[in-house]
Amino acid sequence: MTKFSTHLTNWYRNNARDLPWRNTRNPYQIWISEVILQQTRINQGLAYYLRFVDRFPTIDLLANADQQEILLLWQGLGYYSRARNMHEAAKQVLKIYDGVFPSTYDQIIKLKGVGEYTAAAIASIAFGEPKVVVDGNVLRFLSRLHGYTQPVNSARGKTAIREIAEKLLQDAEPAIFNQALMEFGALYCVPRNPDCINCIFSNSCQALALGIVNDLPVKSKKIVVKKRFLNYLFLYYYNENNQIIFFIQQRGKGDIWHGLFDLPLIEDDKCYDFDTLTTSEYWNENISSHEPVISTTYKDFTHQLTHQQLNTRFFTVKLENYNPLLTKKEWVEVTFENHKQYPTSRLIENYLTIIIPSLMK
Ligand code: SF4
Repeated sequence: MTKFSTHLTNWYRNNARDLPWRNTRNPYQIWISEVILQQTRINQGLAYYLRFVDRFPTIDLLANADQQEILLLWQGLGYYSRARNMHEAAKQVLKIYDGVFPSTYDQIIKLKGVGEYTAAAIASIAFGEPKVVVDGNVLRFLSRLHGYTQPVNSARGKTAIREIAEKLLQDAEPAIFNQALMEFGALYCVPRNPDCINCIFSNSCQALALGIVNDLPVKSKKIVVKKRFLNYLFLYYYNENNQIIFFIQQRGKGDIWHGLFDLPLIEDDKCYDFDTLTTSEYWNENISSHEPVISTTYKDFTHQLTHQQLNTRFFTVKLENYNPLLTKKEWVEVTFENHKQYPTSRLIENYLTIIIPSLMK
């Protein structure tokens, strides 16, 4: 082992956080944890992980599950394609490997939604394959340690950092080395104000010696954020039992939140005012025949995704004379009691938690 890896793995053994996926070599559980934690902080991801492995303790149970139930368990985590891909990958494992999780990097990376990082993490942690993992924490830590001043989010930068990690790995135990590298970046070499004074690598850290700790890692060009304008309609009526019934619809393929449910929606190049809404084609075709009464107020929310800014406006519309024969076929009728059976985005969930109590008064 290199001096560095000995130092690092010793540090890890004494300082690592005690997390459930660190006490197992079960590739299925490691896979679940890696996917959940890809875009999620540990504090938030932990509860989801525990719920997920409790409900689906084995890969065949996940493969045979209903996708709606998986999305419901995932609700609030965002990046829902991760959950859909996991479902597909579980089916692949059942079909190709008879339900036994594949044991090599080359096999694992062929599973749906599994990229280099996740495949390396599972192969090294569960099976001891000498593959290095390079996540954001590793990029930051190693770029500072080695004074790497080129953009780390380019293919070239990632390759350069991976090569550094591979040299450092040498004869170390891959499972411990990789987790230690990520943990050190997460706990010590943090994005802002890293604890360089107490860092065990401060004597060899190039960024510290050059006084460029806060300039690293370098990242090239900003993400282009697309602005979208979504006019949502909370359409409701009272049934014969005086219950409030409202409508949701499932989102289709090729867009954010595929498979989740949201409210009837008009997307355009702006958020509508009342006139624009009530003279729109959508309104005339789908709503006007139900004798709608629109609330005099609406709610606005801005919802930020990685590549998109969603500017949303929610209108509340009571259907005074609801006619089921004229209902759009995509609309699903739900009550306040049963709408939680349907997975929704955090945006819709937040809105419903506001609107529902106000209408129940
Ligand atoms: S000295 Fe500071 S910048 Fe360098 S590795 Fe340690 S924590 Fe990171």
